Amino acid sequence: MNIIDKRGTLAKHSSRTYRRRSRSAIRNIAIHHSATTTGSAEAFARYHVNELGWPGIGYHYVVDKDGNISRCHDLEVVSYHVGNSNGYAVGICMVGNFQTESLGETQRNATLELTKHLMSELGITVDNVWGHTEFPGYAWKPCPSINMNTFRNQLAEHGGSLPDGNIQAPTYVAGARQRTYLSRGDQGDDVQALQERLDRLGFMPGPIDGIFGPKTYDAVMRFQRAAGISVDGIVGPETRAALRDYEGEVEIIEHGSPTDEPDDNEEMFRSESRRMLRYIQPMMRGEDVSEVQQKVGAMVDGMYGTETAQKVRDFQSREGILVDGIVGPQTWRALDRTSSSRRPRYQRLLSLQTPYLRGDDVKQVQRALNVEVDGLYGPITERAVRNFQRREGITADGIVGRQTWARLFN
Ligand SMILES: [Zn+2]
Repeated sequence: MNIIDKRGTLAKHSSRTYRRRSRSAIRNIAIHHSATTTGSAEAFARYHVNELGWPGIGYHYVVDKDGNISRCHDLEVVSYHVGNSNGYAVGICMVGNFQTESLGETQRNATLELTKHLMSELGITVDNVWGHTEFPGYAWKPCPSINMNTFRNQLAEHGGSLPDGNIQAPTYVAGARQRTYLSRGDQGDDVQALQERLDRLGFMPGPIDGIFGPKTYDAVMRFQRAAGISVDGIVGPETRAALRDYEGEVEIIEHGSPTDEPDDNEEMFRSESRRMLRYIQPMMRGEDVSEVQQKVGAMVDGMYGTETAQKVRDFQSREGILVDGIVGPQTWRALDRTSSSRRPRYQRLLSLQTPYLRGDDVKQVQRALNVEVDGLYGPITERAVRNFQRREGITADGIVGRQTWARLFN
């Protein structure tokens, strides 16, 4: 696996920055295509920053058709690519438009390798690798326009459901250079970005191969003439600025759009025990699935199948929230609200002790307070209880007695 580290070298906004998160907040890997036949991390970064006004490129990784992988951000960076799900997703973009062309073997394999590597590094299972269109609110978007079930099966075939000890460690090669002047004979990512730009502007620089040959040279001169700047076939600051501002172009770029930014309704998973659930192949399974099934009245078998998805849609429609059959933060919250009909019964006083108290009642408290649900009444839970008590205006002693219990579950 050949990873080119481009962190810190790509276009970024002069004042805006992406927020950061802890690695444990990451629950999904999102697969995209660029919806353009050519492209690069450099080109996407410029588009996202200059056209969309984003803090930086929207993707964490870009995989080109030759299987080269560009690393664009730390995993902790919350960049824009899946809207309100950005907070817990890592974005991989494959260069290409898979609505009109097919995904080649080399690129597919590189993307599979990268995904497996990330799954193992982040402890993410194959059923949490989703296409862009599989995220809440994106059913309309034809991204990545490949069969995600096939993709997941290929991940699983290669031992992807479990961390794989045999994954080849990534080798990082030197990052992309940002040279001030480009001229004949130069090679590299910046030359390729130049060729892409010339190509998009209609100056036909020849093959987009990162080599500044005669055709690129010729295209640069034609461009300089058209832009009314000095014609020398060398790309320096003046030509760069002209390339950036040149008008008369018709730019159609579909990768990354304003809808990939989070909106005011972004809700973060404060509880890390909660992943998003949806119907995919292979099916998602687990206790959280059973919990949802119980609450929406589906058959409880711990597997998120079509019946469960339908019951979730029915539930969402009754609740008046987005009907997509996906259990994301909003639906989890709605499920919590309705579960008060089977309100948990107070059993005992809960407080911080050594060893920590453990049990289902502790889990219920943790769920109600949106802290990690491990069933152990530790310091984090105690602090959350104190904060809750303070907000409620009752004695903030960090102990859950009858009064606090009643406040939590009524
Ligand atoms: Zn996408």
